This record gives sequence, structure tokens and C-alpha cells, in this order.
Amino acid sequence: MAQQEDVFKKIVSHCKEYGFVFPSSDIYDGLGAVYDYGQNGVELKNNIKNYWWKSMVLLHDNIVGIDAAVFMHPTVWKASGHVDAFNDPLIDNRDSKKRYRADVLIEDQIAKYEEKIEKEVAKGRKRFGDAFDEAQFVSTNGRVLEIVAKRDALHARYAKAMEAMDLEELKQIIVDEEIVCPISGTRNWTDVRQFNLMFKTEMGSTADGASTIYLRPETAQGIFVNYLNVQKTGRMKLPFGIAQIGKAFRNEIVARQFIFRMREFEQMEMQFFVKPGTEMEWFNTWKQTRMAWHQALGFGAENYRFHDHEKLAHYANAATDIEFRMPFGFKEVEGIHSRTDFDLKQHAKYSGKKIEYFDPEDNQSYTPYVIETSIGVDRMFLSIMCHSYEEEQLEGGDVRTVLHLPAALAPVKLAVLPLVKKDGLPEKAQEIMQELKFHFNCKYEEKDTIGKRYRRQDAIGTPYCITVDHDTLNDNTVTLRDRDTMEQRRVNINELRAIIEEQVSLTSLLKRL
Ligand code: ATP
Repeated sequence: MAQQEDVFKKIVSHCKEYGFVFPSSDIYDGLGAVYDYGQNGVELKNNIKNYWWKSMVLLHDNIVGIDAAVFMHPTVWKASGHVDAFNDPLIDNRDSKKRYRADVLIEDQIAKYEEKIEKEVAKGRKRFGDAFDEAQFVSTNGRVLEIVAKRDALHARYAKAMEAMDLEELKQIIVDEEIVCPISGTRNWTDVRQFNLMFKTEMGSTADGASTIYLRPETAQGIFVNYLNVQKTGRMKLPFGIAQIGKAFRNEIVARQFIFRMREFEQMEMQFFVKPGTEMEWFNTWKQTRMAWHQALGFGAENYRFHDHEKLAHYANAATDIEFRMPFGFKEVEGIHSRTDFDLKQHAKYSGKKIEYFDPEDNQSYTPYVIETSIGVDRMFLSIMCHSYEEEQLEGGDVRTVLHLPAALAPVKLAVLPLVKKDGLPEKAQEIMQELKFHFNCKYEEKDTIGKRYRRQDAIGTPYCITVDHDTLNDNTVTLRDRDTMEQRRVNINELRAIIEEQVSLTSLLKRL
């Protein structure tokens, strides 16, 4: 675990050192849980957004996109339930003065029981060798059964407390489980309180009578309030979807995991409107479609899992998360929710407008049901960074830091490097740049030894480098170096575009879906 934390720290500093992610307002020592993307980060982020957008809007002729404003009518948040219910239960430790989410403390405790079970299983495997039967071991081993019983009891008690939002009971669970503050190590806790996560601001001057408005905590409501506009103007027939990428804001209580939990972040959400009664079918379809989208990146199926929700939000009748194995455990990257007709009905009620769909086949009107897929761009970014980062041991004892980014997402696709800064090599390299820069992101570099330049490109995840040398001037060939294998081969300049484009284009990634 300590080793994993170490790796995570290295990834965070790598992100800063190589222009991926900077703390916001860095020269003023940063702003809590707010980050800026640098010259390489913005490229990777845009590529992630493009991959998502195209997989939704390009590959489905019944999904269209919109871009709604961050500011919305304040009644939107009354109708959606956010004003009354978008709360987290918070608790303070009096000694460390640190604030925590009570639910997260308890979930971490459940995870600890799970780790203990895994440890017992590992011990069993070691003891019994090839003859080890995990299912039998787990169902019969006394020690495992004891821990499983404790975990299940805690789980049931926790789920009940969350369902009823019983703050006293949440506190009592923390006391009974003897959960300590990770910083002070003490159990000196305050009571649990509710905390609303929405940021407020004012619109208009006070003289005119300013009104309180909120920064949107999710992009979804921008889609619901535009349902009628899009359905009518786009002549959309059910089932159809509306996709959107945009900023969301949450005044998170605990924000200590780099870009995993931010106060300003970006979401990619798609609301899929379906006929009531068909929602479970569509829920399952979207679960599979979204998992395939993640796995097409090639990080290995073992790094993903579904986590079905125990406690459903007030609007949902089914919900699951896609979790990814981060250095700090399996964590939610995307949520898939069956939101019923809750949102559209609420907006109909609060706005007084009829928000329905006329079904020409059934010759009747009804409120559509909704399946939502909601993914955080920044969390996706972090999961990609975590999986791609490697400190590779090379023969001869050397170490290189390399980002094995999926080629289609890499900020720079090709580095063009003249071997030396003379003899017409820079001019030849520039000539190649001028040709290829229209097709993919290329970078020209002539400073430092070729070895150092390769390492710099490895560190930002550039899939290919080409070196222009004296032979190039005679036979029109260059050395093409592969980031992952470090293999070098001679290729003709005329072939470069086809070879590279095949590997780095978004189209090739989309075709895997
Ligand atoms: P969590 O339980 O981690 O707070 P959530 O269940 O509240 O997340 P949703 O409301 O389902 O999250 O939001 C959908 C997605 O938006 C999440 O899967 C995540 O990728 C992203 N997201 C939510 N909150 C944040 C945040 N504070 N910072 C970065 N990404 C976020």
C-alpha cells in the first residue's frame, strides 16, 4: 500500500513537471481542489473528450449533442431536488481539525474488512498451493467467515443509516467501529452534520434586486430542460439521446486526491430517453456499451468492475458505477443510472409546461424514462495517467520514465528530430514537419542529444519519434522509433503518414468499439 501511495505521488509530480496538470493559481500556492491543465494536459483532455463525443454523437444516429449554460434558472435546482437533498454527511476530528465525509469513513472501514479477507485468501493459497480451492476456502475457513460476518453486519447497518440519512446512527457506527482519524489517530469526533455541495452566487446588481443562483453541480439538468427544444427541433423519435460535455461545480468536503475529487470539474453526460417499461433493457445495453468504450483503450479487463448501488438516489430505480483500479484502490470513474421519469416530471410540475412525448405508434403521450451515463473527464484523465505511467528498468541498470498512453489519446503523436543541428538536417526535418502537421500533432525538437530527446518524448507519451540523419538526404528514409518497444526501423518518408496515422488516429480507436 505504501508503495502504491508512493507511485501516486510520483504521478502527481510527473503531471506537473511535464506540463499536464498544475495547481490552480500556483504562484499563490494553489486553491483547494482546483487545477489547471497545461500544454500537454489540455491535448490529452481534448482527446478524451473527442473520443467520448464521437463515440456518442458520431456512432449513434439517434444521439445529438448540446452545450447548455452553466448558469440556470434557480428553480431548476428546486425541481431537481438539489437545493433540499444534494448534501453530504460531514464530521470533524477535533484534534487534527480535519473534515471528513462520514459515509466515506465507513466505506473505507468496509474496504478494510475486504482487504483482510483478501489477505486470508492469499495465505490459504500459499499454504495449499495448486490444491487451493478459493470458493471452498472462503465458505469454510473460520477466520474468513468471522470477518465476512462483521463486514456484512456493518454494511447492512450503514446502508440502512444512509437510506434514512440518520446522522446520529452514522456517528454511532463510527464510534462503534472505533474508526480513527488518519491524521491525528484519535477518535475525538464531532457530531455528523449535513452540508450542501452547491456553490451560490448572485446575478444582477443588488439595486435591481439580485437573485441567488447556483453554479451547476451536474450537467444533466441542462439536458432535461432542453428535452422539448431538442425533441421538437430535431424531430427526434424515441429512443434518442442528448449528449453534453461541460463544467460542473461541487463544494466537496474532502478534496485530497489530486484531480480525483475537484471543486470545479468536467462531466461528459448522455441522457437517453426511452419508452417507460423498456428502461431495464436500455440500462443493461448502456452498461455494456460504456464498459466496451473503456476497455477499447487496452488497459486490461481485470482493471474494471461494475459496482451496483445499494442506496439508490431518490430519482433512480437502478444504478451502477464503472470502477477502475487506481493506485489507491478500485474507484468510480463513471455512473450509469436509470433515472425513471423523475426529472422530466419535476420540471413539468415546477415550470407548468407539458413535457411529454407523443408516440405515433401507440397514438398516446407519455413522459419518457431516462438512462443516464455520466463520466468525469478529470477522473478519466487520472485513470489513464495512473495506468500509463511506468518507471521501466532497462538493460544496463538504466531507468526510463515512460507514459504508455493509448496512441489515439497521446498529446503529441510524432516528434521530428534532426540528429544534429547542421548539415541541412534541421531544414529537412522542418520539411517533414510541414507535410505531417496537417494530419496529426507533431513536435520539432533539436536541442540536446538524441537520447535525451527520446526520453523527453517517452515522458509525455509520444508514440513515435523520427530521426533525420545524413542518410536521409541521400535515400529519403528516416529512423522511426516506437515508444513502447524502443525498436527502431528505417522507413521511407513517403510511407510515414500512413504508418503513423493507422496507429494514432481516433478513427482506429473508434473502430474497435
Ligand atoms: P462520488 O461518489 O465520488 O462523490 P458521485 O457518485 O457523486 O461521485 P456522480 O454525481 O454520479 O458522482 O457524477 C458522475 C461522475 O462525475 C463521477 O463518476 C465522476 O467521474 C465525476 N465526478 C463527480 N464528482 C466529481 C468531483 N468532485 N471531481 C471530479 N470528478 C467528479
